[in-house]
Amino acid sequence: MNNRTLSSYNIPVIDAHLDLAMDVCQKRQDGRKGVIVSDYLESFRRGNVKSVISAIFAEGTMPETALRQGMRQVAAIYAEVEESPDILAVCRSAEEVLKAERDGKIAILLSFEGAEPLGQDADILRLFYALGVRFLGLCWSRRNYAADGANYSENIKSTGSGLTEFGQQLVWEAERLGMLIDVSHLNDAGFNDLLKISKRPFIASHSNCRAINGTKRNLSDGQIRAIADRGGVIGINACSILVSDCEDTATVERLADHVDHMVRLAGIEHISLGFDFFEHMVPPGTCLEVNGKSVRVFDVIKRHSDIDALTDTLLHRGYHEEEIGLIYADNMRRVLRALGGGGQDGRS
Ligand SMILES: [Zn+2]
Repeated sequence: MNNRTLSSYNIPVIDAHLDLAMDVCQKRQDGRKGVIVSDYLESFRRGNVKSVISAIFAEGTMPETALRQGMRQVAAIYAEVEESPDILAVCRSAEEVLKAERDGKIAILLSFEGAEPLGQDADILRLFYALGVRFLGLCWSRRNYAADGANYSENIKSTGSGLTEFGQQLVWEAERLGMLIDVSHLNDAGFNDLLKISKRPFIASHSNCRAINGTKRNLSDGQIRAIADRGGVIGINACSILVSDCEDTATVERLADHVDHMVRLAGIEHISLGFDFFEHMVPPGTCLEVNGKSVRVFDVIKRHSDIDALTDTLLHRGYHEEEIGLIYADNMRRVLRALGGGGQDGRS
């Protein structure tokens, strides 16, 4: 973390992927309240964060457990908003996000990171939509009833299967309701199926470029172009193992290389932020098993308060503040206008 008290730049930030609900829910189950205000707000303010998309993530894969976890996480976010109504707001549309910003509140949007809470029941999706969930990631890096995920390890093979019949039903139901699909974690076959059956913009909330770091968790050039062609955005991910396959080169500079590559492929209008910050939630020195080796995993930017590290790097590479503003918030704002149906396609 740098020692600035506020971002040096007045560039608003929307972060398209944060495991906020999971963290808040766990801490509330430990008896705490006001977790976002005490553990996140200063970092949000210092980074000029206006809005975050919070993942709903069920660790359990058993349907009843996962449903309960999903509902608990949604409930935890609402409880936090109820405790701090002048500071936080759950938002369901682009208009509500703008209103929250005008009121000086942090806008929180809700997103499934894996459809586990739905079990095999597409009808339940409408309940979560009614609760404010607006993005649907069909799977995490594992198989579920809807789809199969791309694992970090090459030696853990995806089945290679695409969307199941249930997964397709979820896509259609999500698009009917006005939710947007999120393809981060989805395997290649699932991505191809989605491209064929979906009609609306979709996003990759937290993924980088496979051309720079070859993990299947990152996007191929064709996938980046496809997301852009559909009018969606890709949120760049600050997690070291998505930035680089080598710890020493997992840096802000390498993260900016991903931005450069996406700009060349798709244009700057389709890049966003999905930092996926996690270090503050886990013990120091946390490692992950990747390809049979234990790899240290870390955030290449330390939370939102350190976002100037990225801004400085992008400015140094010749991006103007207005262009950085597109990446940091405006492109995602455009995509948010496609929420809620009504036939808008979110294209610029
Ligand atoms: Zn993720």
